[in-house]
Amino acid sequence: MRGVVFTGDSKLEIKEFPDPTPGPGQVVVKMRSSGLCGSDLRPYRSSAEQLGARTQIISGHEPCGEVMELGQDVTNVKVGDRIMVHHYSGCQKCEFCRTGWTQLCQSSYQKVYGSGAHGGNADYELIESYMCVPLHEGVSFEEGAAIACGTGTAYQALRRLDVSGRDVLAVFGQGPVGLSGTFLGAHMGARVIAVDPVPERRKLAEESGAWKSIDPNAVNPVEAIYEMTGGRGADATLDATGIGEVRANAIRSTRIWGRACLVGEGGTMNLEPSPDIIHRQLNLFGSWTFSTVILGELANWIVERDIPLDSIITQRFTLDKAKEAYELFNGGTTGKVVINWD
Ligand SMILES: [Zn+2]
Ligand SMILES: [Zn+2]
Repeated sequence: MRGVVFTGDSKLEIKEFPDPTPGPGQVVVKMRSSGLCGSDLRPYRSSAEQLGARTQIISGHEPCGEVMELGQDVTNVKVGDRIMVHHYSGCQKCEFCRTGWTQLCQSSYQKVYGSGAHGGNADYELIESYMCVPLHEGVSFEEGAAIACGTGTAYQALRRLDVSGRDVLAVFGQGPVGLSGTFLGAHMGARVIAVDPVPERRKLAEESGAWKSIDPNAVNPVEAIYEMTGGRGADATLDATGIGEVRANAIRSTRIWGRACLVGEGGTMNLEPSPDIIHRQLNLFGSWTFSTVILGELANWIVERDIPLDSIITQRFTLDKAKEAYELFNGGTTGKVVINWD
């Protein structure tokens, strides 16, 4: 089978790997769609030295497809089932694993597929059967791939923020996660302010239901948000950039008693805790992806409300064009980019 590995300095290779064989408790997934994620860009842009062993590991952590082959003792899925992959393994014994939060498992069984084990940018993927989350037939494979990381991450962050129609929600960064936050937040009834310096991404946000958009290179985004909200600030804010200054702007544009959530990975942050957090009674959340249960909940939510999630997918490639897909996505102007199989 073919699999995509990052080889360093924004380069990748499509390499041949042996077709996987499932051991006890494992399944092989025939890939139908694999999403590109903002968090791929850090390893993609790293040097070969920084990547180390990862230059041999198949990338991609937003896999969606069909169960093709079962190992011994697999009872939770059958051949042909449509599934999303919750891309983490764990001990299956601790409190986190038992509640579907495998990424929080503290044991040596904990692996992130797509970096610590082979991921979804391949014709097939070998996973543990408990990583399969059933995909409702009303959700396409490419929508399932989006849900399986970026959109799911935004959904869980909005759950943590308890976003509703009473809120003004400011979303900083309109890459795939931030754009999903704008889109889902609008569908939850919030008035969404989308912040991004890239015109294409602000346009996508407006088309995805944003109430207003802000170019942070043209105006001070914190002041603009206070102006748009009658001087109160946003009820809830979400940072999907991972940039220190932007995180601080998100927190400072949150109203007194408001809620702020960080999902953008990496980097640092400089705040003055007294004026920025304590004296404003702020609720500050960190949110790392989602559980298997939340993943299924989001898929059902999208079907039941007939939400056109495919509208945030802006480019589609085949696996042999993975290089072009990552180069385009790395340019920072797209919505969701996916690799699809027939
Ligand atoms: Zn991701
Ligand atoms: Zn565990």
